Amino acid sequence: LSILRRVGRQAEGAGLRAYVVGGCVRDLILKRKVLDLDVVIEGDAIVVARKFSSDRAGTLTVYPQFGTATVLLPDGRAVDFASARRESYLHPGALPVVVKGNIKEDLFRRDFTINAMAVAINPKHFGSLLDYYGGFDDLKSQRIRVLHGQSFVDDPTRILRAVRFEERFRFRMEPATLRLLRESLKRKAPATVKPQRYFEEFKKNLKEDRAPENLRRLSRLKALDFLEPSFKLEQRHRRLLREAPQTLLWADKHLIDWPSQNAWLVCLMIIFDGIAPARVARVLEKFAVANTDRKKIIGSLSCGNILVKLALSRREAFKAMRPLSVEEILFLRAKTLNVSARMRIQEHLLEWRHLKLQINGDDLKRLGIPSGKNYKIILDEVLYALVEGCCSSKSDQLARARDLCQQHQ
Ligand code: ATP
Repeated sequence: LSILRRVGRQAEGAGLRAYVVGGCVRDLILKRKVLDLDVVIEGDAIVVARKFSSDRAGTLTVYPQFGTATVLLPDGRAVDFASARRESYLHPGALPVVVKGNIKEDLFRRDFTINAMAVAINPKHFGSLLDYYGGFDDLKSQRIRVLHGQSFVDDPTRILRAVRFEERFRFRMEPATLRLLRESLKRKAPATVKPQRYFEEFKKNLKEDRAPENLRRLSRLKALDFLEPSFKLEQRHRRLLREAPQTLLWADKHLIDWPSQNAWLVCLMIIFDGIAPARVARVLEKFAVANTDRKKIIGSLSCGNILVKLALSRREAFKAMRPLSVEEILFLRAKTLNVSARMRIQEHLLEWRHLKLQINGDDLKRLGIPSGKNYKIILDEVLYALVEGCCSSKSDQLARARDLCQQHQ
């Protein structure tokens, strides 16, 4: 509130009207946590952003080509400033052409009525809601509604956004919106958007807490075939998606070093399960998925083969999981119904993968072991012994290394 009041005063000082808009208005009304503040100025937003930034010792980043600016406050919060604008689309799926406009026009270019409300923040009007398109009623009735019939054609990423908001808030698209969405899918509207841009929006669906529900809804709507023609979820994917939340919850609770924002990768592994690696590689290439993520996803396609090894000794289980990423192993955890395999997976994630030897190559040298590739074999063997619960002290590890050295000579 104090930020908004200040911005409102500064806009007033510059003779401009200021509003807080979009997702933050929606979240305020829903009494959800508001993380980012989006401010729209009727006029030059950069002028107000500059004033606000210098006043609050913020860090200002200006994007003159878009008439926007972001102020990062010392406490880590960010306020985005944009000049009110009107949009038109030269062709479906293209990025819009933008010209200056008023707040009503700015709200009209938005995706759904629930995201198309503004609250005035100039001192005299502070707190008045601008709701030209029925967003408040739709919020109360838990409805997702587009602002006009061309919406999904203009910007097909709204197909993914509609499902994202449906599942996040447990809302539903109202019938006309659902019909328009289905029509745009029939006409293959997503193909008009740059694949990378469409995939970035899809990633946001996968990053939601209710990612499995997002995927099931998209599949039922036949909205996953942007990945590949006729792509849809099979029975095995549905089973894995039912398992995923529990696995991801477990990871959130127990793996302090695992960033939960990587959960989207596990979801992607699930929906590619059972698909030929060459086909998956083509999809990942098309959407320019980053190399590190690509490697993990391709790796997950064959990690089903190692499930049998998890039932063998701890040492074999460790050797099988050692080269895998945490995401691949979480995928395995969702995949297996075998209780002892799950135990091994948990042991690996919680304990084994963090084990460090107290000896290294220098110790082997000091023992008089000739250097060479045997070092790796010996140190690996000592590590396997550690996994098996032996050799926890340095002296035990040295003794084991000495024995192994004799065996390898
Ligand atoms: P989230 O909580 O996921 O960030 P959000 O509604 O704040 O949800 P953003 O993607 O941050 O979503 O976008 C901010 C606002 O910009 C939206 O509320 C909406 O008004 C508008 N917007 C974003 N993407 C689109 C789009 N593709 N078409 C039209 N308006 C959009």
